[in-house]
Amino acid sequence: MTNTAATAGLDSDLAPDDLDLDEGVRADPAAHRMLTGDRPTGPLHLGHYFGSLRNRVHLQRLGVEMFVVIADYQVITDRDIADRLAEHTENLVLDYLATGLDPDRATIFTHSSVPALNQLLLPFLSLVSVAELSRNPTVKDEIAHSSQAAVNGLMFTYPVHQAADILFCKADLVPVGKDQLPHLEVARTIARRFNERYPHADGSTVFPHPRALLSAAPLLLGTDGGKMSKSRGNSVPISADPDTTARLIKGARTDTDRRIGYDPAGRPEVSNLVLLAALCQDRTPEEVAEEIGDGGAAALKRTVTEAVNEHLRPIRARRAELAADRGHLHRVLRAGAERANAVADATLTEVRSVMGSL
Ligand code: ATP
Ligand code: MG
Repeated sequence: MTNTAATAGLDSDLAPDDLDLDEGVRADPAAHRMLTGDRPTGPLHLGHYFGSLRNRVHLQRLGVEMFVVIADYQVITDRDIADRLAEHTENLVLDYLATGLDPDRATIFTHSSVPALNQLLLPFLSLVSVAELSRNPTVKDEIAHSSQAAVNGLMFTYPVHQAADILFCKADLVPVGKDQLPHLEVARTIARRFNERYPHADGSTVFPHPRALLSAAPLLLGTDGGKMSKSRGNSVPISADPDTTARLIKGARTDTDRRIGYDPAGRPEVSNLVLLAALCQDRTPEEVAEEIGDGGAAALKRTVTEAVNEHLRPIRARRAELAADRGHLHRVLRAGAERANAVADATLTEVRSVMGSL
């Protein structure tokens, strides 16, 4: 982990060997619950797909129960107005269903439709210090890219809100990208401190210790060489058509060395493209790089474009079919909200009880 210094004082037992839970999960998938989510700030991109969505679908197929939050309240952490919120929310649901999330098994809901989840924010805020919140490296990065002149209070409490997302449903598995590790540490710290401060009378505790599940592409880079992000104009959306995909990949930053290799530390942009092709074709990055050899960036980009378009073809076709029935998307959200509310109400009742509320 790269953020140990920045998160000193928070739980730091998120060791790399904690991150690959597949064996444990495989042994008893029904004993686990997974929570993930995305902000409705734009279409999901390849970073989401390889960083988190594929893991979600994989875990769903294994039989892990899944909750997916569309984090609509978190949109206004770094901008004044949540622009085109309903449209972005519908598009997220489309991306989820097209990539294989099953709404009969996954609970897909928005923040704003589950009041009891948001109420957990109050006791949770009392469990972290202002100093801990202000040194969170992901919050610092989000502030650097924020479109606001001043940083608002919601930005600092973002990770605590995320702890409420994870803990309201007592999730223990959280398939995320690398940018979320500091936030996950906050959720772990809050769970631990809450359990210590407010045990049940019999000594049992309310919350599990959630763990991150990182994929083989925990930080996919965008076309500008920074983290691929919905809001930074550097992404390749899952839903883009093949020509747009080709144009976006053609504009990706590379370097002048014609020999294509896989060296993420030394040549991050080229290696990112090599990795992308490898993930799409289910090969190793070394194989892909070897095949392109001295072909240079142009050949690399052609390979990546073909690989991405080929891999996403069935997903895009399914997405187009689903897009014809907006009513279905709304029914998915309504059913998800109903299930999430029942779970959140039960957790809030338990929280109130251990805290001694009447
Ligand atoms: P925004 O720019 O609005 O913050 P985003 O692209 O960062 O959007 P989020 O909704 O903030 O997307 O993140 C949703 C999930 O996707 C998180 O688990 C995050 O770690 C993961 N994720 C986002 N970008 C990447 C990336 N480039 N590589 C791997 N995972 C990513
Ligand atoms: Mg983000």
